[in-house]
Amino acid sequence: MPELTGPLDRPLSPGATIGILGSGQLGRMAALAAARLGYRCHVYGPEADAPANQVCDAATVAAYDDVAALTRFAAAVDVVTFEFENIPLATVEVLEKLAPLRPGAAVLSICQHRLREKDFCNGVSVPTTAYRAAEDVGGLRRAVEAIGTPCILKSAELGYDGKGQVRITAESDLAEAWAAMRGHAADAVGIVEAIVPFRMEISAIVARSADGSVRTYVPVENRHKNHILDETIAPANLPDELSDRAEAIARHLAKEMGLIGLLAVEMFVTHDNKILVNELAPRPHNSGHWTLDACVTSQFEQFIRAVAGLPLGSTERLCDAVMKNLLGDEVNDWLRILSEPGNKLHLYGKAEARPGRKMGHVTRLIRR
Ligand code: AMP
Repeated sequence: MPELTGPLDRPLSPGATIGILGSGQLGRMAALAAARLGYRCHVYGPEADAPANQVCDAATVAAYDDVAALTRFAAAVDVVTFEFENIPLATVEVLEKLAPLRPGAAVLSICQHRLREKDFCNGVSVPTTAYRAAEDVGGLRRAVEAIGTPCILKSAELGYDGKGQVRITAESDLAEAWAAMRGHAADAVGIVEAIVPFRMEISAIVARSADGSVRTYVPVENRHKNHILDETIAPANLPDELSDRAEAIARHLAKEMGLIGLLAVEMFVTHDNKILVNELAPRPHNSGHWTLDACVTSQFEQFIRAVAGLPLGSTERLCDAVMKNLLGDEVNDWLRILSEPGNKLHLYGKAEARPGRKMGHVTRLIRR
């Protein structure tokens, strides 16, 4: 049983237990990386037989507001982290009092709310697209007038992969748009964003440890289909100056939020070479999966290193790579994918291939 509460003051020894909130594929791949470093993982989430449960030493299957289960979980682990940001803030506030939490509740609070996220970025001089808050249909009307059309209404909370997003044009019925957004997240406030006519979507992943040391991965290009990441191309085909600027933005944001862990920064590159931040994720990210096969230290190992207080590893790229998500029944192609010797296949152990569901990914290594 751990005796530590509050911040960890020394590296976790092999054999220690890392608690992970959330039990999807990100938790699964993080737990596999942790196991290689000699740690055990205990995953916490509402679903039985979830991707992470299948590879962890222990699993608590309970709701995020089950304080008794959270208390038992905290007592059984040496440090707590999370693999997705839609964890209720109240959950991590309970846990933070019982066990070291990395990253902390303040980081989660910023990254789980699109308005707080954009306010934070602009507050530390990192530009985003123009945006306005909307709390009801009247507020939506005023926000759309201020931003202009076309624009996008998003729920400030609980949105991912395009869920809770409505495109608004001059002809749109705003009451309908509001209802569609609220249909996804019943009590959420809205955020109206100016559409960025981008030339490329990129992301940069940064790790930061408790002593303030920082390592970034090379920025990558992300191509989406139906708002869901389809392919990541590593590295992004950008001039060094832009690529360096994207990495500097990621480092700056991690430092300013006092991050201990991993931060993925999704950005738009505009035709006139501006970089605007779209979204932040304080955890391993789909656009970093290529690092499993193409970098000295994968994003998952780096995440575990940062959370466990270990020295960060090299982010050196061993070769270029293209990562393709296997969405829904694309996964049925697994045997053909494996028959190409250069492909690195990763499957997540999900039973049902629902349309758009992330079932696995394949990374094609490109020798330089
Ligand atoms: P998000 O959930 O905010 O990451 O949005 C999902 C995808 O929708 C992004 O990856 C973009 O392709 C597109 N998108 C979101 N917001 C904007 C925006 N303000 N301008 C242009 N495209 C956007």
